[in-house]
Amino acid sequence: MRGIPQVDTSKCYACGACAVACPVDAITVTYGEERAIIRINYRRCIRCAYCRDNCPAGAIVISEKYGIVSSSIEDLYGTFEVVLAKCEHCAIGLKHSTNAEKIAREKTVVKLLCDKCRRELVSRNLTWVR
Ligand code: SF4
Ligand code: SF4
Repeated sequence: MRGIPQVDTSKCYACGACAVACPVDAITVTYGEERAIIRINYRRCIRCAYCRDNCPAGAIVISEKYGIVSSSIEDLYGTFEVVLAKCEHCAIGLKHSTNAEKIAREKTVVKLLCDKCRRELVSRNLTWVR
């Protein structure tokens, strides 16, 4: 028997693949300027672990917590906050941020840019490579 899924926010890069994979729409990912919120509705969750199996970051852990008893409805949701990396041009939060940051740091020649800034710099014929 599986327990409820939980998100390791140190690994999650807010790609949303878990929400797409969930067969009962128990997961939502919402993006703010600086943070993304992953929310899991444990009342809907059928403990199938598809979210874990489809997470490219290995960020979903199936816990050993099997049931939740509470008088607070909020306890029936798992809420996980992921800090987004910022565009180095306009400082807006980037989706898929940790992954983008990791790739950028590994290659060391790529700037972290949001789509809008990348298009703008390319259209002005400015380089976005360091
Ligand atoms: S990294 Fe994993 S836990 Fe985070 S949003 Fe993507 S699939 Fe979900
Ligand atoms: S365990 Fe299955 S039902 Fe529950 S959140 Fe993950 S994908 Fe959805």
